[in-house]
Parts: sequence; structure tokens; C-alpha cells
Amino acid sequence: MHSLTRSLAHVLHSLGLDQRRCAHCLRPFSPADLTSPQDAFCPQCAVELKPHSGPCCHLCGLPLAGTHAPGNAVCGACLQDPPPWHALAFHGLYQGTLRDTLLQLKFDGKIYLAKALAYFLLEAASCLPLPDAVVAMPQHPNHLRNRGYNQAHELARALCHLAALNLRTDLLARVVPGPAQAQLSARARRENVRHSFRASPLTAGMTLWLLDDVMTTGSTLRSATHALLTAGADRVDVLFVARTPQHT
Ligand SMILES: [Zn+2]
Ligand SMILES: [Zn+2]
Repeated sequence: MHSLTRSLAHVLHSLGLDQRRCAHCLRPFSPADLTSPQDAFCPQCAVELKPHSGPCCHLCGLPLAGTHAPGNAVCGACLQDPPPWHALAFHGLYQGTLRDTLLQLKFDGKIYLAKALAYFLLEAASCLPLPDAVVAMPQHPNHLRNRGYNQAHELARALCHLAALNLRTDLLARVVPGPAQAQLSARARRENVRHSFRASPLTAGMTLWLLDDVMTTGSTLRSATHALLTAGADRVDVLFVARTPQHT
């Protein structure tokens, strides 16, 4: 059976029928394993999309200087004001090809990228205990109406499909739209989103994964985590694809 699969792969390859288009750069390539849907990116992009492996703050994911930082190292900001979540997991830094892929998912309507990125999330989340439910960072209905979709929800949906997890859209709502965050300082961002979320009492006793595409200052994730814990969640772990490499 194995040699049959191999000779079939050989025939397909010689005819060029084994080719896929890279989910990021759209160049055709031949995946190493035809049966694996995981190979969504060409070899060049795959190298650039490798998970971040350098030392980082274990509470917020901020990369730390020096190669000898211990596994439980904490950055200055988290020492002063530790985040409310229990643990965090993410794939890589928000730069280069990963940033570009996430921007395409968010702004160009390339929702199929969520499926490819869900494999990264699943791998990153292997250090977290399995949740009772996955909650995607919600958008305010006004925002959702303009954009048409929520990239965090698309990622959560793909991840839950992949890992047979329970996606819940009724546990957390964004009740204040809030202005664009990009121009605000970290402190202003946190003030801005402090009362932005309302969590359901149905979260009581649950272990949750709160999922987002990118973590910048963490103020939105902090506020949403706080709302879930206040509503009674037992444990909230945050999971996202990419971390900005510095506090902004
Ligand atoms: Zn590529
Ligand atoms: Zn930190």
C-alpha cells in the first residue's frame, strides 16, 4: 500500500498534478506530503513562518534580550502589572511573512488563510490544557457590519474544526466600539477598552481559550480576560497567532 501511494505520488509529480499554490505568495509548489493539508505554504514561506523560538516573557510573549533568559522570565511591564490570564501561547512575531499573511486575512478577505494558520495555533496551544470552550475576540456589531467578518472568529472556527473543540459565540460580547487603537499609547488603549466587554454568566466554572489574531499591547486581551473571569470563568488562557516584537 505504501509503495502504491509512493508510485502514485511519483506519477502525479511527473505530470505536475501534485502542485498546490502557496497560501501566502500564491506561487505553485509541490508539497512534501500530498496527503497533508498542513503544507499550505511553499518551502520559502514555510521557512519564514517558523514558530518563534527565542526567549520571551512567559506572561505576555514579549521577546527578551539575551539568549539565556530562563523559561519563566518576565518583562518589566508584566512585573509591574501582571496580566489576568493564566497562560499564553502564540506562534510567532508580527513581522515579515507572518504579518503579511495576517494582514491579508484581516483586510483582503482571504478567509482561507485562517485554515492554514489554525495549524500554527494548534501547535502553539499544545502547552495549554484543553478548554471547555474556545472564545474568539469579538468585534462590536458596527465594526462587524462594515468589515463583514471577524478574523479572530474565522481563526477560532478553523481551529475548533481542526481539533474538535467547542466554539462559543455566546460567552463574550463587545459592547463599546472604541476608536481605532493604533494611534493610542498603551495606557490610553487600556483605558479605552476597560469596559468594552460583557461576558455571560454561562462561563461559570469553565476553562477557556481566548483567541485573537495579533497581540499588540495586550490591553484588549486583558480587558476581555478580566470580563470572562469576573463572570465566573475558572481559567482563561490566551492564544494568538502573532505578537508584536515590542511594547508600543
Ligand atoms: Zn510562498
Ligand atoms: Zn511581559
